Amino acid sequence: MKDVSSPVPALVIRRLWKSYGQNDVLKGVSLQVEPQEVVTIIGPSGSGKSTLLQCINFMEPFDDGEVIVNGKHIGYLPNTGSTRVRMPEKQLNLLRRDIGIVFQQYNLFPHLTVLGNVIEAPIHVRGLSREEAIARGRQQLDKVGLLVKQNAYPSELSGGQQQRVAIARALAMSPQLMLFDEVTSALDPELVGEVLATMRTLAQEGMTMIVVTHEMAFARDVSDRVIFMDDGNIVESGRPDVFFSNPTHDRSKAFLRRLN
Ligand code: ADP
Ligand code: MG
Repeated sequence: MKDVSSPVPALVIRRLWKSYGQNDVLKGVSLQVEPQEVVTIIGPSGSGKSTLLQCINFMEPFDDGEVIVNGKHIGYLPNTGSTRVRMPEKQLNLLRRDIGIVFQQYNLFPHLTVLGNVIEAPIHVRGLSREEAIARGRQQLDKVGLLVKQNAYPSELSGGQQQRVAIARALAMSPQLMLFDEVTSALDPELVGEVLATMRTLAQEGMTMIVVTHEMAFARDVSDRVIFMDDGNIVESGRPDVFFSNPTHDRSKAFLRRLN
């Protein structure tokens, strides 16, 4: 018998609106991401890329629309109509455990070792035993090539190493979806490659990823889809080879021209 079941999308965003005061920052953004898909988001500064990522885990409450992660609504209780009811914090935090997010600033705990940073949330948020968390944490550090640094403190590491620890820390929670917000933008140029290599490996292993980046080579070579945002909208979305060789929207054309 033919299997007619389709996999649940990793992420569905429907008509998402978000403003800061009078400033409309997201203007009805819709986006669907499939399991294991790698989507890069590019676009000018101020176009709403970071806000979009932060709405996905409801770090920033959105004003209208829906966000559904692995089939589950996040942010507001479903079917509460026009009087939307914010989810209880407990329920929100349960959903957030499945979403890893890494920022430009790595924000490691300076008083904890590398391994200490990686096991903190699995113990205190996931409720893993210390032994389990250490075993899993070491695996993740190995994956980002930093097991040898497990007992070092963040201040003893380069920026690139700290960012790889931040990625390991997010992975240690066993997320189903990873969000990256310009994670290489604060790094010295010679350290960018090692972080991108880590992300590339993660993509090849089948992690579902949304990556906001200025690294066009990464977008072109690693992602399944490139999304171009401008002024609170997705104005173009397509396969990277098509997008980079033949962008259709004037805004994306102008953006790509400026890069060359
Ligand atoms: P991008 O990541 O594409 O550079 P952002 O999502 O950071 O864009 O910002 C989009 C718009 O929202 C900008 O106009 C920015 O000034 C505004 N904005 C972002 N965060 C805040 C905030 N916390 N408070 C007020 N305005 C904000
Ligand atoms: Mg940003």
